[in-house]
Amino acid sequence: MEKLEHIGIAVKNLQKSNELFEKLLGKPPYKTEDVEREGVRTSFFDVGGIKIELIEATRANSPIAKFLETRGEGLHHLAFAVDSVKESIEELSNKEFRMLSDEAKPGADNKMIVFMHPKGTNNVLVELCEERKG
Ligand code: ZN
Repeated sequence: MEKLEHIGIAVKNLQKSNELFEKLLGKPPYKTEDVEREGVRTSFFDVGGIKIELIEATRANSPIAKFLETRGEGLHHLAFAVDSVKESIEELSNKEFRMLSDEAKPGADNKMIVFMHPKGTNNVLVELCEERKG
């Protein structure tokens, strides 16, 4: 892992939470982005190089909708930057960590991402992300 890249927070209403975090952090999100295939809308705040990602569900069957239903709003995941998601999956699998999928998929903020199984990481959902090239 190179560095903590962002912290994901699940919210019920992105617009309201954008206003709340703007009030808290003293600046607006630098971008808002829909990730259609994940059924989420996200916004990003930059806090000294580490980002806060607010995540709202855009459909009832998205994983975020399920998370909100069972656990409510709050801390959802930690994301670490890696050079290569593919290599990290291999390395971590060799160390007996489990992934939620076998390969990287496109995420928000121009990243290729994969999530690790939270059961293997003290119930913390960990995302690995790699800057997409080109
Ligand atoms: Zn994330």
